[in-house]
Amino acid sequence: PKGHLTVLGLGAMGSAIAERLRGSGYAVTVWNRTAAKTGPHVAAGSKAAATVAEAVGAGDVVLVVLLDHESVREHLDPVAAELKGKVVVNLTTTTPNQARATAAWAAEHGIAYLDGAIMAVPDMIGSPGARLLYSGDENAYAIARPALETLGAAEFAGANAGVASLKDMALLAAMDLMLQGYLQAIAMMRTVGASAADTAEETEAWLAAMLPYGKEIAAVVDGGTYDTGGQSVDFDRRGLASLITASREQGVSARLLETHQRLLEELAAAGHGASDWPRIIDRLTIPR
Ligand code: NDP
Repeated sequence: PKGHLTVLGLGAMGSAIAERLRGSGYAVTVWNRTAAKTGPHVAAGSKAAATVAEAVGAGDVVLVVLLDHESVREHLDPVAAELKGKVVVNLTTTTPNQARATAAWAAEHGIAYLDGAIMAVPDMIGSPGARLLYSGDENAYAIARPALETLGAAEFAGANAGVASLKDMALLAAMDLMLQGYLQAIAMMRTVGASAADTAEETEAWLAAMLPYGKEIAAVVDGGTYDTGGQSVDFDRRGLASLITASREQGVSARLLETHQRLLEELAAAGHGASDWPRIIDRLTIPR
């Protein structure tokens, strides 16, 4: 084999990862809380370990694909001694602070720790469309990299263990806000009988045309002066007020838009009505 790997957790994602690693020529030892899920992996040539300690002992790199931070710590903490000197790649979704806490725990125990974020669904594992972000111990990344690159496009995001999950969550936050936009448009248009499918198609084309505008917003933020003469807070407030009125007149709540409107009102009240509207970012930053 190309190397000995351990996969802890055989849910939808852990199974896809174990299968891909095995298919890429690695000897894979698997462990899962519900032992029955190891069956197909054993049939395909993997070893099943009865305990986490046994599983950890079999691999030089241990990939963790459990449910959440708590389940990771529940099973890793008791085997800290067995993990000493090994590389742990935690692909479980956690918050940046949780990732940093696990990294600190690993450092205390002499474990090379890499925190990962998977920007893919299980079916995409092993295809170039899958993107996986890693942050933490750079040496651990160098060691695990050949195996990690079989899972999808791999990117090292830095030594701060929280950065991979932070980036994952920032991108998911952007997606979340964008997808809410589809529902707002569909809710407005269905008041005149338009199908969701038709509105979604038009919305997709419109959003696609608008996507490059994101970089212009970034340039305004980077400039830091908010006086480029682009769309102003006051201009945007008026535009948004029309959207809110139109929505309500159709019997559709404007709650999603009101959040944006409130931020603009706060800026106007602070005397920034003439500023470029991306100054909103100031209202998002909570002073610590
Ligand atoms: P599943 O719900 O399919 O599987 C969950 C896994 O976690 C199972 O192996 C389950 O074991 C195990 N588990 C849950 N609680 C515990 C516990 N207390 N102790 C031990 N094992 C436990 O989830 P996925 O495989 O889809 O997701 C795994 C991770 O991957 C999650 O963090 C998820 O956010 C992340 N991820 C998933 C994506 C996806 O599209 N599925 C996309 C990106 C990230 P058991 O079989 O015994 O229940």
